[in-house]
Amino acid sequence: MDFEAFFKSELDSLHQEGRYRVFADLERHRGHFPRATRYTANGEREVTVWCSNDYLGMGQHPAVIEAMKQAIDHCGAGAGGTRNISGTNHYHVLLEQELADLHGKEAALTFTSGYVSNWTALGTLGAKIPNLIIFSDALNHASMIEGIRYGKCQRVVFKHNDLKDLEEKLALADPAAPKLIAFESVYSMDGDIAPIKEICDLADKYGAMTYLDEVHAVGMYGPRGGGIAEREGLMDRITILEGTLGKAFGVMGGFITGSAAVCDFIRSFGSGFIFSTALPPTLAAGALASIRHLKVSQFERARHQDRVRKLRAALEAKGIPHMPNPSHIVPVMVGDAAKCKWISDILLDDFNIYVQPINYPTVPRKTERLRFTPTPMHTDADIEHLVGALHSLWSRCALARAVA
Ligand SMILES: *Cc1c(COP(=O)(O)O)cnc(C)c1O
Repeated sequence: MDFEAFFKSELDSLHQEGRYRVFADLERHRGHFPRATRYTANGEREVTVWCSNDYLGMGQHPAVIEAMKQAIDHCGAGAGGTRNISGTNHYHVLLEQELADLHGKEAALTFTSGYVSNWTALGTLGAKIPNLIIFSDALNHASMIEGIRYGKCQRVVFKHNDLKDLEEKLALADPAAPKLIAFESVYSMDGDIAPIKEICDLADKYGAMTYLDEVHAVGMYGPRGGGIAEREGLMDRITILEGTLGKAFGVMGGFITGSAAVCDFIRSFGSGFIFSTALPPTLAAGALASIRHLKVSQFERARHQDRVRKLRAALEAKGIPHMPNPSHIVPVMVGDAAKCKWISDILLDDFNIYVQPINYPTVPRKTERLRFTPTPMHTDADIEHLVGALHSLWSRCALARAVA
């Protein structure tokens, strides 16, 4: 086989479909979030980032940076091993205690990313619990889908956030089989929120465990940043609550929290946990500082929600169609892959506004969009500049406007 020709022809088809991914080459500047330098073949430009998952700007918070500096001075660069073989640093222990406390659980377990935590936890449960059936929301993240696949247990996909469909599927399953319902709180592309309480009620009725991915909610919702389940007083009804340290907490890593037994089980049987080098102490220390800060500070959460409201109101005033939802994610709908890419290119080149186009397969075709994530650091002037740019592009591109 001509491997090189194969690789190139597969890439060509991505180009033809307009969904070949081009990374923006950025350098973030500490203290100037959401500004960054963008490197191009023609030189450097300052841009405003409008699509970061560092939702609260904690990646540049002085408390986080100071903690990471101290940890590197204290412990050096890497962890030096897997958690089992010399890699457990005291910061990991403190971080897991902090996470368990954040979610009101007995225990927590950290991983090198949220992806690895979903893949490992769901895969291990699927592989090890005899006859387990996992009921999985149709819009679950790729890391959950891959984990469930790896577990090779029976998988039943229910319609997104559809309680009726979920109940029908639970009722059809063998009553004696162990069951788990895997879902997210805030879905990252549409920004909608799962009916967590009702799903927990169904879980109780059919004797299922619940597995909730709160990746897009931890740090941002609930009085201590415990997520949507905390805000709604439902954390004790979730068997395993999973999150990331890489989005609102601004650092990197993933985690699960739950009973001492279930965390010990994943710790003891999860390949993605056991056979991988532990997080560097710096990351654990930075995440710890970030979580501690957001447990007590309401400032970032309040300002974040204020910025989201402000952006939505400004879009509405100009008739720019955005998807209404109860979260902090503001999807502006374009509905055409080429136009979506074109708009984001012009925003970047002519307006120094960086928002990555979101195309198939991340979202269904015809729902291509620009996904804006306002942060506490976006100013009124940033919002005006963005909405003014979109306003002019909407006219140039002959895109439909929403009727106010
Ligand atoms: C980003 C994401 C993950 C993975 O988290 P990382 O820490 O980035 O690996 C898991 N679940 C959802 C819903 C995500 O959006």
